[in-house]
Amino acid sequence: MAPASSEFVRGLPKVELHIHMEGALSPSLRYRVAKRNGIPQIQETEEEMVRDYQDAFNNILTGEITLEAAGKVFFDHFFDGIKVMIKEEDFYELAMSYFENAAKTNIRYAEIFVDFQSIMETVSLDIAMSGYRKAQIEAEKNYNLKVEWILSFDRSKEPADLMRAYEESLTHRDIIKGFALAGISDGSGLMKFNEVFTRARKDGFFITAHVEAESTQNLHECLSQVGGHGLDRLDHGMKVGEQQDLMNLIKKRNIGLTICPWVTYGPAKLMTDHESAVQTVFENGIRKLCNHEVLVAVGSDDPALAGGRWLEDNLSLLTDVAGFTEEELLNLQLSAVRSSWASDKHKAELDEEIRTYAANFKSP
Ligand SMILES: [Zn+2]
Repeated sequence: MAPASSEFVRGLPKVELHIHMEGALSPSLRYRVAKRNGIPQIQETEEEMVRDYQDAFNNILTGEITLEAAGKVFFDHFFDGIKVMIKEEDFYELAMSYFENAAKTNIRYAEIFVDFQSIMETVSLDIAMSGYRKAQIEAEKNYNLKVEWILSFDRSKEPADLMRAYEESLTHRDIIKGFALAGISDGSGLMKFNEVFTRARKDGFFITAHVEAESTQNLHECLSQVGGHGLDRLDHGMKVGEQQDLMNLIKKRNIGLTICPWVTYGPAKLMTDHESAVQTVFENGIRKLCNHEVLVAVGSDDPALAGGRWLEDNLSLLTDVAGFTEEELLNLQLSAVRSSWASDKHKAELDEEIRTYAANFKSP
């Protein structure tokens, strides 16, 4: 079977479950917001800011930087970006920039991380959430795009800080779907955060976590113990494919995992070479999991920090370097629907829409 065409990828109705709102802050928008708010930036012009971001990811792809240095640049851009946002309109504008882009590539449903603890270091969460709420309403009305928010804890903070932030966030609970754990992992497992995960689940929220650095043993814990009986999804959960037991367990739980191709392939290539990275990420990663009927949802993670590579670009990478077919991409979107936290009714509607698109698609 031939790889799916770019027309098929573009029009395919999409579900995105791994995207950080603040990681979608483009260098141009960051520059403009910083200027508007009078916050000095090291980069003197918008062009310089754009170049800085482009260079950061290109250096990973061309192997001109160490993984450690790349990680530092990545997080510097991410956190410096958050610091320029101080008004409701800043958050509104950021969210709208993602929604406009999402609409163009037919993203129909998105569960979006908000790095709320970092935001709260600069402004009150109320400011950010009112901007996001306003944009969410507009996206649903104007773009027919349903949006849910996942508040994302910072794992480098103390468990007590997480609990404090959690309680503070509850004034916005009517638009919060779940809680996640992200940030730089040391691979030491998630049980130290068990109290806040258990509380969030008890309060009716879904729970997930970034687990790329966790051992397979920790992943067992993530799937069966954290929050009482295990998380509701695993972000960057590609390692599950390393063990048959883990694949069995995640299937038994009937939950999904997310994988973000560009930000996984880039560092993998930096550590080895193109062929090995393709083998690891696409063959032994995504394709193997799909072949074992594990639910995989492809995401873009932090598109602005990955050279402006959005969900469509992440799906295109699968076709370009690993020859993913229309059928494989269709199945990935259906998996994303099943991995999502949408209502059963909404899941059925999305499922139907995606299948109809694929059945009626004709190459131009
Ligand atoms: Zn992420």
